[in-house]
Parts: sequence; structure tokens; C-alpha cells
Amino acid sequence: AIYNLGSINIDYFYQVEHLPAPGETISAIEYMVNLGGKGLNTSVAAQRAGADVRHVGAVGRDDAVVRRMLAELGVDDTRVVGVEAQTGHAVVYVDAASENSIVIFGGANQAIDETNVRAGLDGAGPGDWLLLQNETNANELGLKIAREKGMKVALVAAPFETGALVDLIGQVDLVSMNRTETAQYEAALGQAVREVQGPAFLLTYGAEGSVFIDGESETRVAAFAVDAVDTTAAGDTFFGTFLAQHAAGAGIKEAMRFASAAAAVKVTRKGAAKAIPKAEEVRVFLRS
Ligand code: ADP
Repeated sequence: AIYNLGSINIDYFYQVEHLPAPGETISAIEYMVNLGGKGLNTSVAAQRAGADVRHVGAVGRDDAVVRRMLAELGVDDTRVVGVEAQTGHAVVYVDAASENSIVIFGGANQAIDETNVRAGLDGAGPGDWLLLQNETNANELGLKIAREKGMKVALVAAPFETGALVDLIGQVDLVSMNRTETAQYEAALGQAVREVQGPAFLLTYGAEGSVFIDGESETRVAAFAVDAVDTTAAGDTFFGTFLAQHAAGAGIKEAMRFASAAAAVKVTRKGAAKAIPKAEEVRVFLRS
């Protein structure tokens, strides 16, 4: 199974004419509320790709609204603990040119303790994956407990922050980064990803595809040419799908191709978690 120790956010979207300037008050043209967070998005992607996913995380105690949203997405919340903090959320302004400004409140995602992680990973063992992103306070704890249990560990190195994340990257089995994160990592390290010993890297380059680097070997897969309308969660879809395929024993190239197809379908649809395709929809796309 894939144990995803990851963020859960309620995303509040406001479509606006222009992004508000300091001191300015403006009216929104449209308003939407969706469940998001990198962690939750990758859980949905891996699950829709067919994996057995156990989402491990935290929301506000007694937050029935977020639990109902999890149920609507088909995410089991048994291992999502209620804590004394508000559910994480993001306030997103998107202007007419699709430029955005985002404020994230970590809340419950930043209030996960060792007891929560141990309970969340109960029953996990060798052969299982732990998936991490950089939106909770529990990555070091997760890594430590996963190693005790003999699990493999994958990390989506986003959002990129130097310090703890750079150290963490060197300690996991598989790392996923987009173009920006790869550049930030290489700048922080003063070294090219190809020279880093240890983890395998899956690097994504938007419409230019992706490359998997494991020691000496490199595997490249092109992106599918589609008319993108919303690239939100492209990377989350790509990596969740890749890991689901990889964990199920697919070859690297095959898993990358399927993940590229899933991400291509996603970018043709508006929205994050809700817009992530199921395996059957990806197969239909690949046959088309
Ligand atoms: P992130 O969303 O994390 O910034 P990327 O933009 O690199 O990640 O996208 C991840 C993957 O999604 C790419 O490797 C590609 O397979 C797919 N993808 C992203 N944007 C497009 C696009 N415009 N057209 C087709 N595929 C895309």
C-alpha cells in the first residue's frame, strides 16, 4: 500500500479582475471551495490510478465539513486525525490573465505529532511506500518511522524550501521535482541532480515531459500534446499516478507514460483533486 503522510487544505478560490494591490478592496467575480493540498491531490491521483492508498494526516477536531469533502472524493479518513488546530486552508486569487496570489494557512497540517504518525502508519511494512510532500511538519518523523518499518520513502520536494528539505532529499529513495524545484535544489546544493548519490529522481518539465534518473541510467518520456486549460495539480497527478504504477510493478518507462497521460488529461480540465482522471479514463485517452 501507499501511505501518504500529506497535507489536506480547503482551497478558497476567488476569480478577480486583477490581484488586489496593498490597501485595495475589490469584489470577486466568482467563488469556489474545493479540497486540495499537495498531499490530498497525490492521494487522489494514486488512488484513481488503482493503488491502495492510506492517507495519513490531520484536520481540525470536529471539522465535519472537511470529512464530508474527503468522503465525496472517495478518500478514506480513518487515518486522518482531528487535532486542536484549524484545518489547513489556502486562499487563492486568480486574475483575468490566470496569474495568481496564494496564502496558505498550515493549521492542522503543521500540528501532527509522533503518536499521530505511528497510528497512521500502523500495519505498514516492507513493500509499502511512504509518500511525503513539504506541506506538513511531520516529514522527519515520517522518515524515521518508515525506516524502522522497512518501508520505501518517496518525496515530492514541493513547495521547495532549503534547509530541512535539502537534507531530507538525500535520505529518501525517490524524489519528484518540477523545473523550478530542480533549479532551487541545484542552487542550494551547488551540484547537479545527476551528481547526487542516493535517491532516484523523477524530474518534470511541464509540456516538455519528464526524466527519471537513477544512478547512471536515464529514462525520458515526452508529454502528450493537449490543449491545457488548467495546469493546477499536474505534478501531483503525475507523481501520484507514477507511484501507483511503480508500486504495482510497472516498469519505469511504462509508469511514466501512464502518469504523463493522466497529467495530460488533468490539464485539459479545470480544478485540482476533482479533475484528476481515473485509470479507465487514462486508458481511453491512450487509445484515442
Ligand atoms: P508541476 O505541476 O509540479 O509544476 P509540471 O508542470 O512539470 O509539474 O507537470 C508535471 C507533468 O504533467 C509533466 O511532466 C507532463 O507530463 C504533464 N504536463 C504538465 N503540463 C502539461 C501540458 N501543458 N501539456 C501536457 N502535459 C503536461
